[in-house]
Amino acid sequence: ISGLMAGKRGLIMGVANDKSIAWGIARAAAAAGAEVAFTYQGEALEKRVRPLASSVGSDIVLPCDVTDAASIDSVFDTLKEKWGKLDFVVHAIGFSDKNELRGRYVDTSLENFTMSMNISVYSFTAVAQRAEKLMTDGGSLLTLSYYGAEKVMPHYNVMGVAKAALEASVKYLANDLGPDRIRVNAISAGPMKTLAASGIGDFRYILKWNEFNSPMRRNVTLDDVGGSGLYFLSDLSTGVTGETHHVDCGYHTVGMKQADAPDI
Ligand code: NAD
Repeated sequence: ISGLMAGKRGLIMGVANDKSIAWGIARAAAAAGAEVAFTYQGEALEKRVRPLASSVGSDIVLPCDVTDAASIDSVFDTLKEKWGKLDFVVHAIGFSDKNELRGRYVDTSLENFTMSMNISVYSFTAVAQRAEKLMTDGGSLLTLSYYGAEKVMPHYNVMGVAKAALEASVKYLANDLGPDRIRVNAISAGPMKTLAASGIGDFRYILKWNEFNSPMRRNVTLDDVGGSGLYFLSDLSTGVTGETHHVDCGYHTVGMKQADAPDI
């Protein structure tokens, strides 16, 4: 894959640490020759993101909180100034109050519903609006979803509703931006132990359940998601848009507990 991304420049949003899905995709893109820039949310994360960025030869590391439109503008202004154009964006951002990632969905508050939708769904559209202007040669936008968009998962609650909206917005964005040769896709990743996932109630149980019941009898790794991410960001997928692609060791295809699954 070396050289696959040569000459391509992209923005990676959502690295919090070296377990982040965004980091798995960033390092795969960089290994294939892409030049990458990073955003981080808040000063506490800056000190984690900077060393990761420099390990892949990047010194463009910018603050961005997607609830602040001016901070999104400022990221794209900087990229315009430094690079002039952009080839890809990875959006790996999601958030909900963890008190509502347990118990019943029906108890979701309006305040948290609105915030979760803003950060986890609208922000991808807000990013697409800015990226479109810099993707003068076409491009690829990639976001991250989860199976809880399609089927009810314990504790996932408002995030499941948000991911369903995100997957629908992938299709609408793909249709709007297709004429400009900008492709828009999502990866629906299997459960992974990250900072965001630690907010989900009983997450260890979900990990075990997926490990024992997926066709491949294991959970996905950062390299699994990185490799599939690379496909979407590169010219290997020039005919693919509006797609939500499962990278979950096949879990979504299974309708019942496996006969060999141990009790958890
Ligand atoms: P993570 O905690 O490493 O990444 C989440 C990122 O979202 C963090 O970098 C955080 O700073 C950022 N973020 C949250 N609120 C923000 C805001 N207001 N402005 C800017 N950034 C903000 O966890 P992750 O699991 O790598 O999550 C990345 C994406 O993958 C999320 O959309 C998540 O829903 C999705 N996903 C995760 C899993 C999983 O099991 N971990 C599975 C499928 C999909």
